[in-house]
Amino acid sequence: MIRHMDVYAIAMRNRFRNITVREGVLLRGVTGWGEFSPFWDYSDVESAPWLASAVEASEQGWPAPVRERVEINTTVPVVSPERAYELVSASGCRTAKVKVADPRSKLADDCERVAAVRDALGASGAIRVDANMAWDVDTAVDAIKALDSAARGLEYVEQPCVSIEELAAVRRRVAVRIAADESIRRAEDPMKVAVAGAADIAVLKVAPLGGVRRALEIAEACGLPCVVSSALETSVGLAAGLALAGALPVLDFACGLGTLSLLTNDVSTDTLSPVDGYLPVPRTAPEPDLFAMSAADDVTRERWLTRLTHVRAL
Ligand SMILES: [Mg+2]
Repeated sequence: MIRHMDVYAIAMRNRFRNITVREGVLLRGVTGWGEFSPFWDYSDVESAPWLASAVEASEQGWPAPVRERVEINTTVPVVSPERAYELVSASGCRTAKVKVADPRSKLADDCERVAAVRDALGASGAIRVDANMAWDVDTAVDAIKALDSAARGLEYVEQPCVSIEELAAVRRRVAVRIAADESIRRAEDPMKVAVAGAADIAVLKVAPLGGVRRALEIAEACGLPCVVSSALETSVGLAAGLALAGALPVLDFACGLGTLSLLTNDVSTDTLSPVDGYLPVPRTAPEPDLFAMSAADDVTRERWLTRLTHVRAL
C-alpha cells in the first residue's frame, strides 16, 4: 500500500536522451521509498516493470547484498581531449566510459579523446566506449579496431549497432568484447542476446527489468557477465541499482551508477555520490529529505499521478 507519494522535476546538466528535465514519482511504502520514473517514450505497458521495481523497494525491500560497495565508472561525454583528461583525472574512478559515434564527433576525434582518457587512467585503468547503436556492421568493425588501438586496449564496446543480428555479426569480426544495452529493455531480451551470441556482457537496469529480484533471475538465466547501469534516477532509484549490483553473485565490471552528477539536484542529503570510485550498497533507499527543492509544479504532478494511476490499473 502506498502511504505517500511525491512528484519531482530536476533539471539535467546537459541534454540527455533528448530530455532536459528528469521527472518521476517517489513512493513511500512499509519498507521505505521507491522511484517510478519511466521516460515519457515508454508506454503504460512498458512502464509496468518500472512500477514493479518501485513497489519492490517500498513494500518488500531488497535481497541481502554479497558486497558492501560497488565500483563505478566515470562517463566522458563528447568533449575535447584536454577536457576528457581533466574529467577522468578528477573522477577518482579506474574505469571510464567514453561516448563515441556522436554526430558532433568524427572517428579521429573519438580516437584522440580515448587516447587522452588512457593517459589519464594509466595502463591499469579500463576504458569502455558506448556507440548507442550508431554504426552499421562494417563501420563498427573499422571503428572498434581504430578505437581499440587508440585506447591501447578497450574493456568492451557498448551497443555498436541497433539489432541483435548486427551485434552478433560485429562480435564475430572483432576481438573486443561487445556489451548489449539498448537491446536489453525487457525481461526476455537478455536471453535473446545470449542465444544469438550477440554480446559478451549484458547491461542491466533495475527499473525497466522490474526490480532487483527479477533482474537477479534474468542475470542468472542469461548466463552473461553483467554491468548494472542507472536510468538517470535520483538517489532513491539509484539505491535500487546499487542493491542489484550488491547482490549479483559475480560482478567483474565497474557499474554505470555514478550518474547523479548528470542532475543539477537530488532529493536527499544522503546523496549517492562516489568516493574513490566506489558507491556503498544501501539496505534501503535514502530518505528524500530535500524533496521540497525538487518538487514538480502542479501540472507536472497531475500528469504523473494520472500516469501512475493508468499503470497501476493494468
Ligand atoms: Mg549504453
